[in-house]
Amino acid sequence: MRIECIAIGTELLTTRRLDTNSVWLAEQLAMLGLGLNLKTAVGDRREDLARVVREALDRSDLILVTGGLGPTFDDFTKEVFAGILSARLVEDAASRADIQAFYDARNRVPPPANFKQALIPEGAEALRNPLGTAPGVFWQDPPGHAGTRIILFPGVPREMKRMWTEHALPRLRSLAGRPVHTLRMVVAGVPESTLDQRIREVRERHGHLDWTILASLTQVELLARGEDPASLDRAYADFKPLLGEDLVCTGEGNLEDAVLDLLKRRGETLALAESMTGGLLAARLTAIPGASEAFLGGATVYSARAKAVLLGLDPATLAAEGTVSEATSRRLAEAVRAKVGATWGLAVTGNAGPGTEGDASLGAVFIAVAGPTGTESRSLNLPGDRADVQVRATAGALDLLRRGLNLDQKY
Ligand code: ATP
Ligand code: MG
Repeated sequence: MRIECIAIGTELLTTRRLDTNSVWLAEQLAMLGLGLNLKTAVGDRREDLARVVREALDRSDLILVTGGLGPTFDDFTKEVFAGILSARLVEDAASRADIQAFYDARNRVPPPANFKQALIPEGAEALRNPLGTAPGVFWQDPPGHAGTRIILFPGVPREMKRMWTEHALPRLRSLAGRPVHTLRMVVAGVPESTLDQRIREVRERHGHLDWTILASLTQVELLARGEDPASLDRAYADFKPLLGEDLVCTGEGNLEDAVLDLLKRRGETLALAESMTGGLLAARLTAIPGASEAFLGGATVYSARAKAVLLGLDPATLAAEGTVSEATSRRLAEAVRAKVGATWGLAVTGNAGPGTEGDASLGAVFIAVAGPTGTESRSLNLPGDRADVQVRATAGALDLLRRGLNLDQKY
C-alpha cells in the first residue's frame, strides 16, 4: 500500500508558513501502522496541482490532500480532481444546509460564492466540517482507479485534524497494518561516520529491521523499526556491548535527560559555570520537567570580570592562564561546585568565534568536571559556526559529566 500526502497552498512554498499538516498526518498514519511514502507541497496553480494529482493517481493507493477547499478564486482542489477523473461536481444538499446554518448562526448572509464549497465530485462522499464551511471529500474507487482512496481536507489545521479523527480514521481503520515497534538508541561522543562503520556488521545481521541513523549537533540516534518486539530485543542485546559507554540511553530521552536521571538515581546535584555557552547548558537542563531535583543552578561567567567577581577566580592567575584554557575551566568547575555546594561542578570555556580569542582558535573548547574525588577535564576542537560550536560544546560538557557518572571509579 502506497500512501502520499499533498499539501496545497502557495504560502507553503515560502518561509511564511510551514506544512505542518502532513507532519501531523504522518504521525497519525504511524499510529495505524501505516507509513507515508511521499509528500508534496504545491502552490495554488491549477497546472502544477493537476500534474501532482495525475502522478499521485498513478503511484498511490491512498492520497491525503489538504488545502484549497475554500470559496476563493485560489481554491480549486475539487475541480482539479474532478476534471482529471472526469467526474461532474454536484451539489451536496447537506453541505449546502451546513453552510447556510453556519451563516444563520452568525446572523450573516452567505456570499453566493460560498455555496461553491457544497459541490462534491459525483460518486464521492462529503465529509462534514464541524468547525468551518468547507466540507471534505472521501472518494473511494474513483473512475478508472479501483482500489484508490482520496481524502480531501481543508487547509486550516484544526479543521483538518478534527475531520481526520471524526471522518477519515473510521474509514481507514480496515487498512491498518500491524503496529510497528521502534528501538531507539542515543549515542554521544562518536561521529556519525565512525559509528556507522562500527555498527555495520551487526546492523546487517539484523537487516530485516528498518534502520535509520540520525545525527544532530549533540547526539546520534540509531533507530530500528520492526513488527516483532522480540527481534528488536535481540538487536538491542547485540548493540549494547558494541556501543558500550557511548550509549547514552534508549527510548525517548536525550543526553540531558540521561544526565539528570543518573544524578537523581545517585541522589547527587550539579552546578554550572558557563562561559562561551552563555547559559545554553542551563537552558537545556531546565527545559526538562523535574530538573530542579538535581540541577541547583550556576553562573554565566562570560567575561574575565564575572569569573573573578562571581566565582572568585584570581584576576592575575586568570590573565596568566588565559580565560580560554584548560586550567581556567578546571578552576571554574571547582569554584562553582564549592560556592553552590553541589556534588558536581561542570564548566565550559572556549572560543565560539568569529576569529580567535587570545591564543584560542575558533572552536577550541575546554570542559571540566569537578567531583567528590577530583577534577577531570577535556579539550575539544569543534567544527561549525558560532551557534554550532556553542551547541556542540553543551553536548561535550554533558557527555563528559555523563561518562564520569557512569565510570564512578574514575573519581
Ligand atoms: P478555507 O475553507 O478556510 O479557505 P482551505 O481548504 O481553502 O480552507 P487554505 O485556504 O489552503 O485552506 O488554508 C487555510 C489556512 O490553513 C491558511 O492559514 C493556511 O496557511 C493554513 N494551511 C493550509 N495548508 C496548511 C498546511 N499544510 N500546514 C499548515 N497550515 C496550513
Ligand atoms: Mg482558502
